Amino acid sequence: MTPSMKPEKILEVCPVCGSSELYLEAGGYTGKVYRCKRCDYMGALIVEADEEMARAIREDYDQKKL
Ligand SMILES: [Zn+2]
Repeated sequence: MTPSMKPEKILEVCPVCGSSELYLEAGGYTGKVYRCKRCDYMGALIVEADEEMARAIREDYDQKKL
């Protein structure tokens, strides 16, 4: 693996399906709640991942669906 000169691009992705299509629901008494457009996940937990890690989560999710 060759070291990259590019800074790591960190994405906030869904912990379930790895999608970066997350929406921040209006914060209530529970604090921040995110909703995933792809799998309907809803919760406070999101994953900060680089592109490679996000892809790994997506592939894992896709395999479970089969
Ligand atoms: Zn999701």
